[in-house]
Amino acid sequence: MRLRNVTGCREVIAASRYVIQEERQPDCPGNWKEIFGNDRPVHIEIGMGKGRFIHTMAKEHPRINYVGIEKYSAVLLRAVQKMEQEELPNLKFLRMDAEEITKVFGPGEVDRIYLNFSDPWPKDRHAKRRLPSREFLARYAVILKKDGRLEFKTDNRELFDFAVGELAPAGWTAEVITYDLHGDAELMKENVMTEYEEKFSAMGNPICKYIIFRGGPNRCTSTV
Ligand code: SAM
Repeated sequence: MRLRNVTGCREVIAASRYVIQEERQPDCPGNWKEIFGNDRPVHIEIGMGKGRFIHTMAKEHPRINYVGIEKYSAVLLRAVQKMEQEELPNLKFLRMDAEEITKVFGPGEVDRIYLNFSDPWPKDRHAKRRLPSREFLARYAVILKKDGRLEFKTDNRELFDFAVGELAPAGWTAEVITYDLHGDAELMKENVMTEYEEKFSAMGNPICKYIIFRGGPNRCTSTV
């Protein structure tokens, strides 16, 4: 994502009631029920960008709590602005690097994780920074509920092949793998488009997706 320095974005985010501020983040683990004021499931998107996906999901599923995580203030600003236009009680934001994810969610506190069009980090020496890498899967394994699911979509075939290759060594199993999400009528029934998905599918790029869980036998229902 091309980042422009947006004047005043840090101040807007620091003043936003939709964002859990950095100084409050250490209090988050074990306290998400209090933060949302209910004990509904918690779904998170890591690397949410401008937040279209998670805002739509929160609107469509008011009985699920959503947390959008984004590293850069200039990008998070767009998601905050969307909330100012249409406030949703079941959506919060964290500005942070996902490397620290186990510091904001306690063990088993998350019911579902979404990774959408994650940055590819094409150089081998940066593989650990890829959000579907085994290093990140180990972090997700801590915060995800025992039977929780992680969904990942991308148009980047190299990144997707890498991500699929990380599953067995990291102890995860694919429930669904498709190399053409938009050609799968069943999976598309529930699909909510992200900003990147709209852009790259319009260019004719096939969208890959997997849904994975920790451990277990291989119950893959591939739709290659
Ligand atoms: N998910 C959105 C979509 O599909 O339209 C945005 C995709 S964009 C390519 C990837 C986003 O992930 C960027 O906004 C980037 O800042 C964010 N990101 C990358 N690495 C991250 C990390 N370690 N922690 C939090 N956010 C991250």
